[in-house]
Amino acid sequence: MENKINKPGNPYYSNTDTTVLHVSNAEWKKVLPEDVYAVMREADTERPFTGKYWNTDEKGTYYCASCGNKLFRSGAKFASSCGWPSFFEQDNKKSVVYKEDNSLGMERTEVLCGRCGGHLGHLFDDGPEPTGKRYCMNSIALDFIPDNK
Ligand code: FE
Repeated sequence: MENKINKPGNPYYSNTDTTVLHVSNAEWKKVLPEDVYAVMREADTERPFTGKYWNTDEKGTYYCASCGNKLFRSGAKFASSCGWPSFFEQDNKKSVVYKEDNSLGMERTEVLCGRCGGHLGHLFDDGPEPTGKRYCMNSIALDFIPDNK
């Protein structure tokens, strides 16, 4: 399989290489667009109902916008009223990792890309069956490739 997306300015981007990256924020700052950097390296949150994918249900695959790691399949996406794209499970074991997040006076589980460590969003326990999980993601942290492409 070759890259589905090419990002010429970003040497770390690959849809096939799953090697874990150790890239400094200073380096990411050089290769990521400013708005992607703010969410993925500084854990900013896009405003609800503003992202590209909160209200879509096309069949395809979602990849990390920073490094190209495969994160979610559209079959695990569900209609959520929260204003962010929501999934009930990750694509595979390497897709994401979790981190305790006690910022803003809340106890939450942060969801990070399993390859680049970039911030994707948070994990909640109010999702649908079969997992009961809700991966509440920032659209800007995701790249979507439709199945027919
Ligand atoms: Fe990534």
